Amino acid sequence: MLYDMIVIGGGPAGYTAALYAGRANLSVLVLEKLAPGGQMGTTDQIDNYPGFPEGINGFQLAMEMKKGAERFGAETKLAAVTAARLAGDIKEVEAGGERFQGKTVVLACGAHPRELGLPGEKELRGRGVSYCATCDGMFFRGKTVAVAGGGNTAAADALYLSRICEKVVMIHRRDKLRASAAYLKPLLETGNVEFCWDSQVVSLSHEAALTGVELLHKKTGEKSFLPCSGLFVAIGQVPDTGLFAGQIDLDSAGYVQADESTRTSLPGVFAAGDLRAKPLRQVVTACADGACAAQAAEEYLSI
Ligand code: NAP
Repeated sequence: MLYDMIVIGGGPAGYTAALYAGRANLSVLVLEKLAPGGQMGTTDQIDNYPGFPEGINGFQLAMEMKKGAERFGAETKLAAVTAARLAGDIKEVEAGGERFQGKTVVLACGAHPRELGLPGEKELRGRGVSYCATCDGMFFRGKTVAVAGGGNTAAADALYLSRICEKVVMIHRRDKLRASAAYLKPLLETGNVEFCWDSQVVSLSHEAALTGVELLHKKTGEKSFLPCSGLFVAIGQVPDTGLFAGQIDLDSAGYVQADESTRTSLPGVFAAGDLRAKPLRQVVTACADGACAAQAAEEYLSI
């Protein structure tokens, strides 16, 4: 079948594009590698998506977004995309050993967590090193954990972990959080979150699993050891655009160059959500991108 639109990625951007396109009577296939929601799906509590005065769990919101798109005929296939040929009038996408064709493609596959790049980090993943507090926090009930990073993800992770763990130590390379000020008060009020400012994790100690991290104080040059069972790495994102490199214009950090219309350098290909070069990456801005992408795709198809 030739779809009007193939959406790569089932996060808030992807399912909003699918909802808008479905409502415009376009046939839509969403290809999602794991589970609906993308990074939003692994977020425990979302307080800044309007309409939910008590906040909402990210996975629950993802399932509602999927249902909304399905109501207008969008299909979902859970399969990782392995190849995409985006040039030409008919675009081809391979996923789960199958080949799909679309007249338009919306790239909405987001980003994945950046690694610290330390020796042993990959081997200790699942044995103390984690990139997802809501996925793995429960394994550290009553223990001491560290969170590396000072952005919104690190702050949200530290808050979440403070409710499960005995102690949470936030390690940030500067003396001021990048995270929104809204996080600081609740973080200070927990009573079990400590801060290591101007500090960087420089090595990981372990036996079978992580036993602690070595810290370097960037101003004094002093090294110290922090015993902990878990290290949650929350130092930003890397866009999932590797499959599209060489086909569409990316910026130097790998984000897709597309303006608010979401049109990329290739006709019929649109970029929505966290993989697009833009100033604010939030659920609500991902949804806005999805709506713009569907609108732009509809226009493209009508010419
Ligand atoms: P981010 O905003 O880019 O923050 C990354 C943090 O990691 C920064 O504090 C940065 O330090 C630090 N960092 C980067 N590279 C590092 C390295 N090699 N070693 C040590 N520290 C390093 O990333 P994010 O927190 O993942 O957020 C990504 C996007 O999602 C943002 O737009 C964010 O607003 C959004 N988000 C929003 C919410 C929310 O609103 N509730 C929740 C989660 C994510 P510096 O500060 O020194 O640069």
